[in-house]
Amino acid sequence: MEQPTHEADACIVGAGYAGLTAARRLTGAGKTVVVLEARDRVGGRVWTQPYDGFRLDLGGTFIGPNQDAVHKLVSEFGLETFPTHYEGEKVITVEGQARRYAGLIPKLNALAVASLGIGMTRLDAMAKRVPLDDPWLDSRCRRWDQQSAGAWLARHAHVPLGRHLLGATVRGTMCADPGEVSLLHVLYLIRSAGGLNNLLSTKGGYQQDQLVNGAQSIANRMADELGLSLCLDTPVRSITQDDDGVTVHAGGATVRASRVVLAVPPGIAALLAYDPPLPTEKAQLLDRMPAGSVFKAIAVYDDAFWRADGLAGETVGADSPVEMTLDASPPSGQPGLIMGFAFGPYARQLGALDDDERRRAVVNEYARRFGPRARQPVDYHDHEWANEQWSRGGMMAHLAPGVLSQFGPALRRPVGRIHWAGTETATISHGTIDGAIRSGERAALEVLERTT
Ligand SMILES: Cc1cc2nc3c(=O)[nH]c(=O)nc-3n(C[C@H](O)[C@H](O)[C@H](O)COP(=O)(O)OP(=O)(O)OC[C@H]3O[C@@H](n4cnc5c(N)ncnc54)[C@H](O)[C@@H]3O)c2cc1C
Repeated sequence: MEQPTHEADACIVGAGYAGLTAARRLTGAGKTVVVLEARDRVGGRVWTQPYDGFRLDLGGTFIGPNQDAVHKLVSEFGLETFPTHYEGEKVITVEGQARRYAGLIPKLNALAVASLGIGMTRLDAMAKRVPLDDPWLDSRCRRWDQQSAGAWLARHAHVPLGRHLLGATVRGTMCADPGEVSLLHVLYLIRSAGGLNNLLSTKGGYQQDQLVNGAQSIANRMADELGLSLCLDTPVRSITQDDDGVTVHAGGATVRASRVVLAVPPGIAALLAYDPPLPTEKAQLLDRMPAGSVFKAIAVYDDAFWRADGLAGETVGADSPVEMTLDASPPSGQPGLIMGFAFGPYARQLGALDDDERRRAVVNEYARRFGPRARQPVDYHDHEWANEQWSRGGMMAHLAPGVLSQFGPALRRPVGRIHWAGTETATISHGTIDGAIRSGERAALEVLERTT
């Protein structure tokens, strides 16, 4: 057997929020860990770039008031949050026109509003019946898993604009077309968020707060605590298990440990080599958990000029690939940051443009919503996550019809000495930073139960 370069009680693969949390929890319980991370930084799908005394979050950004796991870390590290600006009117663009509105549901023609409102109410009511631990055991859930969210929308939302906006909820969370995603997975996400209102709202919902030093700042603090136990630029290629332990092979390092926590996106876990091979159910589940496409564009202005015009910065594009924007500026409004998103097919559409065309398409879109000043940002940054080798997309993997009901039991079940973490395995706050943290806690507890 080759000589391991590191030995530890546990090897953690991936230094996103799930892996870092598992490592922190295990070291806190007196275990030794080695964390192997492919990138030259921690944080994974959360990536903060310093910007002129402020910061730009190009990946995960917002945290909600009920996301206790992430708030606990914020307070443990003495970090600060600030509320996302939400006061003022929102804007929706429909059929070439920009219209202002207040509240969660835009002012549209009565039929479209009714279709949207009824659709949201029905989805919320169905989601309440989804058991988060084991939906595959529930016969109603198994039926919901037989159809895509797109098929359900086609049957239940007859007004095209209402259907499009309901579909935007699926695209905006799963980063995929509703036709690609199981209705059950969408309902699961809604339930896991505590309802559509929580999922979609700024004040009181998932978009309520941001970290003053950026969403990666907690991950950076966890990395500091790990010190030399964290190996960056070390992509794991294979995992070998035997009766006495597990050997994890990475670029320049080999780790021998009692247990491994695999905290990488499922589409990447599917590409690793396993000896012995994973059970068929697990291997095929990983093959069926692709990440969708998400494109984020941040335009920087000297100040958040739209606020003086009574606008919140929050917009919905029903006739544009930029399906949504939020005001990501600091409370002072200086600099002013408009953060725009394109999801699934629209992310691919924008991603296919060259840099100049893409920037022009996005700022022209911002100008339609916020006025001509938006056409002249002092700076502009964008990012397409599907091009990231170590993410292969975002914000989370989505499940096609039939996957959760057939393969769900394999989602969190350990395979010998391998424990599975990552936001995709979270029952609460599924698909978010908070969910990733919770999944790391759960995987660490599994390891502790088996190593004490
Ligand atoms: C554009 C975008 C916007 C988002 N917005 C929000 C938001 O506002 N709020 C929110 O809560 N969530 C948001 N999310 C989702 C959130 O970022 C993720 O759910 C969460 O960060 C996932 O954490 P994780 O630890 O499960 O996985 P990851 O963050 O993907 O961590 C996995 C780690 O494994 C590493 N890795 C991969 N392969 C290997 C390998 N072979 N060997 C070693 N290491 C490997 C990766 O580099 C990465 O560091 C967003 C995501 C994106 C992309």
